Amino acid sequence: MKRIELSGFKSFADKTELEFVQGITAVVGPNGSGKSNISDGIRWVLGEQSARSLRGGKMEDIIFAGSDARKAVNFGEVSLTLDNASQSLPLDYAEVTVTRRVHRSGESEYMINRQACRLKDITELFMDTGIGKEAYSIIGQGRIEEILSTKSEERRGIFEEASGIVKYKSRKKETEKKLQETEQNLLRIHDLVSELE
Ligand code: ATP
Repeated sequence: MKRIELSGFKSFADKTELEFVQGITAVVGPNGSGKSNISDGIRWVLGEQSARSLRGGKMEDIIFAGSDARKAVNFGEVSLTLDNASQSLPLDYAEVTVTRRVHRSGESEYMINRQACRLKDITELFMDTGIGKEAYSIIGQGRIEEILSTKSEERRGIFEEASGIVKYKSRKKETEKKLQETEQNLLRIHDLVSELE
């Protein structure tokens, strides 16, 4: 992760840029100053759809709501830039920026390197990389206990993501669905043929 830019997102009214340096980047600040809002921003741009898990009631709550000194804004945006020099993401760019913007209507727009895309494209881009709203690269408060106490099948999911087979499992599921649909179509054709005979 190289940098994150937040604008109109939660407590970040103005465009705020944070560089992640090599090694460890620590964010310190008093309670309520917006530290957790940064990790919410990361999960959000990676596709988090649950307003509750972002500590809000509805998606609109993530847009800067105004303060004594500042008016509310009309949209919230987060961009996350990753170093892709090693081509670990399947895109032919040395840097990849994913962006999500939400308007007061609740509608989200997604972009990869400033080109409009679908949420699915972002999810697929990060599949098996360990980066993602549910992936192990973001470990929230309480998540360690959750991982340790969780059901063994769910724990297995973490290892599946780490070993890089989630992509294949998800493609297998899609193919199985298509096969099933095709079987249904075949059955219908057989029915039609026997009706005609
Ligand atoms: P702690 O150390 O207590 O966990 P923190 O630094 O992680 O605190 P956050 O929880 O990230 O702080 O930030 C909470 C702050 O963000 C609150 O002051 C809250 O008012 C503000 N905030 C959240 N959503 C919005 C919004 N939509 N508009 C304006 N401010 C917001």
